[in-house]
Amino acid sequence: MPVPKKNQSRQRQQTRRANWKAKTVGLVDCPNCSAKKRPHHVCKECGYYNGKKYINVEAKAA
Ligand SMILES: [Zn+2]
Repeated sequence: MPVPKKNQSRQRQQTRRANWKAKTVGLVDCPNCSAKKRPHHVCKECGYYNGKKYINVEAKAA
């Protein structure tokens, strides 16, 4: 197994980790109920995706 010859300096380690940032999640309006939903995902509010009902939201709530 290859092993690094030297420890990486703290400066270098921190420089690498400084570029690791959380991304903001994109949101689009649902064409069925106009609620905000994640793109390419079934709408949580109405259960529709691509004009078709995939999950029964009302049954889950009851
Ligand atoms: Zn919807």
